[in-house]
Amino acid sequence: MIRCHPRLEQLVKFVEGNLSYSESILIAAHCDMCDHCRRVVDSETADQAETAFGTDVVQAGPDFDAMFARITQLPAAPAFESGEVLFKPPSKTSLELDGKSFRLPRTLQNLAGKTGNWTSLVGRLWQAPVDLGCHGVANFIYMAKGGSVPEHTHRGTEFTLVLDGKFSDGLNDYDTGDFIYLDSEHTHAPKTEFAEGCLVFSVLDQPLHFTSGLARLLNPFSHLFFR
Ligand SMILES: [Zn+2]
Repeated sequence: MIRCHPRLEQLVKFVEGNLSYSESILIAAHCDMCDHCRRVVDSETADQAETAFGTDVVQAGPDFDAMFARITQLPAAPAFESGEVLFKPPSKTSLELDGKSFRLPRTLQNLAGKTGNWTSLVGRLWQAPVDLGCHGVANFIYMAKGGSVPEHTHRGTEFTLVLDGKFSDGLNDYDTGDFIYLDSEHTHAPKTEFAEGCLVFSVLDQPLHFTSGLARLLNPFSHLFFR
């Protein structure tokens, strides 16, 4: 069950278009998975449209409200299946790793073609970089059962969306769909004991800073660890 959502201010800024590209992708992907936040975004979009176009316009036709509600509440477009729709660029609807297939939320399907190869890291972790162009690098990260990331804090911000499975980090327990925002005020050590492991999508704007034990020796290489 989803328990961690973006804050209301983040959703409002998302609708206003005032978030960074990478943060917007994560919030859009969370809304693909979360009915609650999708309804908030739909309602905020309607409010802002009313503000932008003025109440005169909004009330010009008796059926405008109903029409707008229909537009903003349209169901998500069906996921693209190969050969189903002509003239649409093919997008991958799932990621494959180690014989497992993970279905991606619609927003992230557009990025699947920009995803590099999986690399095995220490601690039963796998990482596949996603090229966001001039907006930096995001990563799909898969933690197999028993996998962990050494305890660390963040020089900048870390946005994480749980795509499949569960993990915990000493601060909280997270489930599929959870949206996690952490910064330099948070120290955590992600790990999973979930049988199916855990796949997340993560965006960092600065390298991690490892805080405990031998992992501190990783700091000079942290730019390589989670680029
Ligand atoms: Zn939500």
